[in-house]
Amino acid sequence: MNRIIRSCSNCALYEHRKNAVCGNGSISPEIFLIGEAPGKIEDESSIPFSGRSGNLLRKSLDSTGISEHRIYITNSVKCRPPNNEKPKMEYLKICNEYLKSEIELLKPKVIIPLGNTSLTALTLITKVKYRNISKIVGEKFQWNGILIFPQFHPAAVLRDMKRLEKFDKVFLEVTKILKN
Ligand code: SF4
Repeated sequence: MNRIIRSCSNCALYEHRKNAVCGNGSISPEIFLIGEAPGKIEDESSIPFSGRSGNLLRKSLDSTGISEHRIYITNSVKCRPPNNEKPKMEYLKICNEYLKSEIELLKPKVIIPLGNTSLTALTLITKVKYRNISKIVGEKFQWNGILIFPQFHPAAVLRDMKRLEKFDKVFLEVTKILKN
């Protein structure tokens, strides 16, 4: 699938990218994280969450006992939108086939959508209507035997560090549940 994504031109975002950014991580992950879209650094490195947001995310995962080999990280769209805009719904819909395939192939125990855009992309698959992410961080949902833990996008935590405690708490809860 990654080969197909790297040469994909199914939506207009392909015109702006340097590199399509495929998902990255364990091939049998317990935890599947979904971000919004690649940013400038990811577009250059081809690695999801390789910028400032990624640093905060990895630090939080590490400090709450979630090691890299347990996770897989991907984005709702695999190509960088111009000027770091939020990806339009039409692009989310077109790129959603890749996200759906990643979930079907990897069969994670837990899915963590990071931010509202990721939650929307997940909704296109689960067909479940969730409330705004800020209202449901800290809650968990079941879908097809998978636990869904909505989470802030790390960029939103960087904008307001008061969210960090709640952000860490979600990952601590995931660790606790996966231990049982
Ligand atoms: S964003 Fe997704 S659908 Fe659009 S060109 Fe990139 S890989 Fe293809």
